[in-house]
Amino acid sequence: MKCKGYMPKRSSRRDFIARSAATTATTATGLAASNGEISNGAHIPALKTAHTTKTNSICPYCAVGCSVTIHTIGDKARNVKPHIVHIEGDPESPVNRGTLCPKGASLEEFVQSDRRLTKVRHRAAGAKEWTDLTWEEAIPMMASRIKASRDKAFVEKDEKGRTVNRLDNVAMIGGCTDTNEINYLLSKFRFGLGLLAYENQSRL
Ligand code: SF4
Repeated sequence: MKCKGYMPKRSSRRDFIARSAATTATTATGLAASNGEISNGAHIPALKTAHTTKTNSICPYCAVGCSVTIHTIGDKARNVKPHIVHIEGDPESPVNRGTLCPKGASLEEFVQSDRRLTKVRHRAAGAKEWTDLTWEEAIPMMASRIKASRDKAFVEKDEKGRTVNRLDNVAMIGGCTDTNEINYLLSKFRFGLGLLAYENQSRL
């Protein structure tokens, strides 16, 4: 008789790999012992994901929506900056079953890239050079300009009196290399403004 609420434990791909590694280590140790060598398996390197924290997410690149597992190290210790050491397909996902296409498989490189912008960049009207802005400078600047543009051009009803609540003089772009959360907020923000000119290749 089955116990109420019993759920059989599923064996994950990572469990399988871990068991395989343990079996290999045991076999290697046994072979070494049979050759007269003494071995404690210390020469077998640990998986780089051995002490990581796993976070599940979705690849942002296309509409397939493959699940990924992000392995982070260092976020359990004080004064240590979290560091992503590996990103792989989630074997538990019915969408991709642990696989990733080349774009998804390069997610770690994109996260770690030293070419990634980490500051607000601004090129003033007529200027040739970009300058850095702080968020304290950039946010009020963007908010006041968006509000001024919206106040000037917001269309509540069209020529036939139909409610449209649209804004034609502001455009916005997002991108698949923004996080899922940022792209979600961008979508909410643009619908809130009534903004029509919006481009984003991530499928949110
Ligand atoms: S891994 Fe490839 S197929 Fe899957 S969501 Fe990302 S880009 Fe699309």
